[in-house]
Amino acid sequence: MNRIRCLVFNAALGPLDYRVPEGVEVEPGSVVVAPLGPRQIIGVVWEAERLPATEVPANKLRPILHVLPVPPLPAPLRRLIEWCADYYVAPLAAVARMALSSSAALRGGGTVTEYRLTGHEPARLTPQRLQAIDLLHDQQATIRELAEIAGVSEGVLRGMVNTGILEPVLVDSDRPYPEPDPHFAEHDLSPDQRGAADRMVTAVKAHEFQPFLLDGVTGSGKTETYFEAVSAAIEAGRQVLVLLPEIALTQSFLKRFEARFGVAPVSWHSSLKSSERRRAWRQVAFGEAKVVVGARSALFLPFPRLGLIVVDEAHEISFKQDDGVRYNARDVAVMRGHFEKVPVILASATPALESLQMAEAGRYERLVLPARFGGASLPEIHIVDLREKQPERGRWIAPPLVEALKERLERGEQSLLFLNRRGYAPLTLCRHCGFRFQCPNCSAWLVEHRLSRRLACHHCGHEVPTPERCPECGEPDCLVACGPGVERIADEVAEIVPEARVALVTSDTLTSPAKAAEFVEMAANKAIDVIVGTQLVTKGYHFPDLTLVGVIDADMGLEGGDLRAAERTYQQIAQVAGRAGRAEKPGEVLIQTRHPEAAVIAALASGDRDAFYEAETEARRDAGAPPFGRWAAIIVSSEDEAEAKEAARAIGGTRPDFNDVMILGPAPAPLSLLRGRYRYRLLINARRSSEVQKVIREWLEPLRFPPGVRVAVDIDPYSF
Ligand code: ADP
Ligand code: ZN
Repeated sequence: MNRIRCLVFNAALGPLDYRVPEGVEVEPGSVVVAPLGPRQIIGVVWEAERLPATEVPANKLRPILHVLPVPPLPAPLRRLIEWCADYYVAPLAAVARMALSSSAALRGGGTVTEYRLTGHEPARLTPQRLQAIDLLHDQQATIRELAEIAGVSEGVLRGMVNTGILEPVLVDSDRPYPEPDPHFAEHDLSPDQRGAADRMVTAVKAHEFQPFLLDGVTGSGKTETYFEAVSAAIEAGRQVLVLLPEIALTQSFLKRFEARFGVAPVSWHSSLKSSERRRAWRQVAFGEAKVVVGARSALFLPFPRLGLIVVDEAHEISFKQDDGVRYNARDVAVMRGHFEKVPVILASATPALESLQMAEAGRYERLVLPARFGGASLPEIHIVDLREKQPERGRWIAPPLVEALKERLERGEQSLLFLNRRGYAPLTLCRHCGFRFQCPNCSAWLVEHRLSRRLACHHCGHEVPTPERCPECGEPDCLVACGPGVERIADEVAEIVPEARVALVTSDTLTSPAKAAEFVEMAANKAIDVIVGTQLVTKGYHFPDLTLVGVIDADMGLEGGDLRAAERTYQQIAQVAGRAGRAEKPGEVLIQTRHPEAAVIAALASGDRDAFYEAETEARRDAGAPPFGRWAAIIVSSEDEAEAKEAARAIGGTRPDFNDVMILGPAPAPLSLLRGRYRYRLLINARRSSEVQKVIREWLEPLRFPPGVRVAVDIDPYSF
């Protein structure tokens, strides 16, 4: 029996059967190179009985060419891949692909040639070479990567190698990482921490599946607590995966990890250079990398000896992937724990309602850290009713917050102002003719970024320089900014307290891990008085001298019909409030709102989290929303509007008829034009117990669409 069935990474092809030549050994999970017509493809050997059969007769089978020198994808990972494909209604090959790295990584380790600047600069340089020298400082990567960073062709860079401006460096992509030491710097835990840590450590040692909800107020020391479980896993010779929501956060995490375990963990995220990616993937696959901290994609790394998974800030919406395979990393992490038979820790001060519900149902074990570590108290929260205490004309910071800011500055303490909107103003219009700047690729307005003097679309990245004149009526100096963004708030702070040192923290300013590290350093050294930031500053950071948090507009997130709007607002504000008063000095939070009576705001003001979750639970139950019912979306898109509409109608026209499944639409999706594609959507609401995936699969399977049409299924969608 030398017939094998392989998953191949070509969306149009199902599994393919091959023959294994005499003397070649393969097993399920082996990564192989096989012929496909005149070409070669990479495939993963799978248990044949778990895939649909193919019909090629045995004597027509072509032999695989060779087996790649990496360990087979482990069985628990294969089961996870199957589960994801099934649950998220995604092609199996598309999910499996997330577990593999580049073909270079698969073909073996060894040395890679990277290049860096030598410092030698000839007197006369072409503009392109000058640009490259400017942009490649401190960079070391392959020619292809450098070309991308510098925005020049590979040819230009090769010329620079020949003239000695760039030099080659040999990098061993298989050099091992230093090992974390579980006992490097152990902390004494508080009794609450100890209790929680013991439960998690016991589960790690028992090597059993157990989800934990580590539910601790901001500053309660959740990180130090789960570090005990990490330590136990390392000591048991196992690997650990820690998922974090944002790369910008990892810098402070890396530092803390290093302080506790002596070395930094291995990082995995989308902006790794290819040599780093290759090294990390291989070291994980061979069981050498002990602790990996990564973005959601790290979930599919082929750990052979996983002992623990941690999802930090587990409530974060960035764990939800919204294109390609649309999965929720928090939920997939729990499933991976299930297949690997290891504990999974979901840590958060503001857990998702779904997670709390699982704890209530006894599926997750809830571990509570009720107080801040070291006796620090939670900040006092005050509401600023904007209907009574209005900011001056054209300003957004109301008098009580102005006073509080000045007070902090006099006392030499830090303040943080939060507004979840990048740029200077969300809408720019011509005061003469009313013209508004719209994105040509999306149904969205362009947002003014005054620092970079550009108007930008926050959905597709389209940018234009801010014009001097209105493009419609030609009038000069006629553009008015409507509404605030963080850049505008930073300007306002500079007017109110000109002597303050202000730091703007958004994804436009913290563009690299180095910039993020620089910010943390400056804030910790008190080189910053006022931080003005978006949701990037709401989490993770711990600045002892920060005593004031101002929420510029608490109502912003509540507009629009998003199912999770209230929960998200609660989480964001509770998290940002949690940055205040984390050490000896007590903190204060001022929340500016026009709706002090809204349930979310009232709960924040009274600090009554349970009241909020209870109200939210009732609202969700009434709406048949998760965790009580399920929602799914089918999104149909095409560059051709008529084609998208037609395809959506065709799907709508064949809707299945089930009692417990309600189907709404098709209707234009909330962003009806996104990145140049017109989008229509059908929404499906069903009972918790109904097999909504099966319904959708059987519904869509017989339908055929023109090649330009994409049909995506989103199970448990986040954006409504
Ligand atoms: P959380 O993640 O729950 O918001 P952190 O883990 O950031 O809280 O902890 C808050 C602060 O308390 C950090 O500065 C952390 O280093 C410190 N801390 C927590 N637990 C301990 C401990 N057992 N010993 C010493 N310092 C601790
Ligand atoms: Zn756009």
